[in-house]
Amino acid sequence: MSFSTQVKNELARLQPNKRCCQRAELSAILRMDGTFHIRNGAFAFHTLTENAAVARKTLKLFSSLSDIKLRLDVKRSIFQKANDYILYISPQPELNRILTDLEILNADRQIIYGIVPDLVRRSCCAITYLRGAFLGGGFINDPRKKYHFELTTDDSQFALDLKDLLERFEINAKIFQKRKYVIYLKEAEQILRFLALVGAFNAVFKWEDIRILKEMRNQVNRLVNCDTANLNKVVEATLAQISDITLIEEGVSLYSLSKGLREVAQARIQFPYVSLRELGELCNPPLSKSAVYHRMRRLNQIANNLREGK
Ligand SMILES: [Zn+2]
Repeated sequence: MSFSTQVKNELARLQPNKRCCQRAELSAILRMDGTFHIRNGAFAFHTLTENAAVARKTLKLFSSLSDIKLRLDVKRSIFQKANDYILYISPQPELNRILTDLEILNADRQIIYGIVPDLVRRSCCAITYLRGAFLGGGFINDPRKKYHFELTTDDSQFALDLKDLLERFEINAKIFQKRKYVIYLKEAEQILRFLALVGAFNAVFKWEDIRILKEMRNQVNRLVNCDTANLNKVVEATLAQISDITLIEEGVSLYSLSKGLREVAQARIQFPYVSLRELGELCNPPLSKSAVYHRMRRLNQIANNLREGK
């Protein structure tokens, strides 16, 4: 299974609880993945994906937001040994209603280009929107081969809006135009930041394992001069913190934590190599080393309670 598919499978399992986020995520998936047809002057619509989990998630989001009737077809694609999952929606009044609600069509039933700001005003929705965009039209390389992440679209305004949305979270993408517009990232730090932002913590963890091995191999000479016993201790402590945080995310979600604890947890996932002191400096407002230490202790207690089923 490709790394990209693993990330999509992980993200497809996350279901947003709030209606505002469900709406943002479905809107993004359809915007990336959907195709309109005109049947006797009425709109029909289909989405096509190679990923079964993404198709299931799209169905689920549709059914929690509307009572639309849709059909799921599975086709064996001829060239690749994979299935295509096609959600087909025939013309029906509910289709116009939901597409208008999702800000894909305007009141005059014309396609809206770009992202309507209202959809992504709240941070929770902006994050789920980006997750939806990745599920609908994203790709990420196996980090063992090269660092590359992209979102692809044929709408130039949409490409610019996605770039802006990423910038809101300090992810600086570039765009190049081939046949389509490709919004891409090439730096590991930036790709990791995206994965952590949208909640792909298993992928972050896997990526980090690979990165740690890669960097250890590349830096043998430098390590020779280091106190390796001490270094191992630091690496072990960091891995334990990341495993606590991953456990909390999977068990009760980082969003159940107080803002202060969540900030430290997310910063640790994004910057696994920095010391507690540096981690504190990355927080906003900055924290002292001992404040970071106390929050790590608290995260560890929460994780231990989860482990013991409390
Ligand atoms: Zn929301």
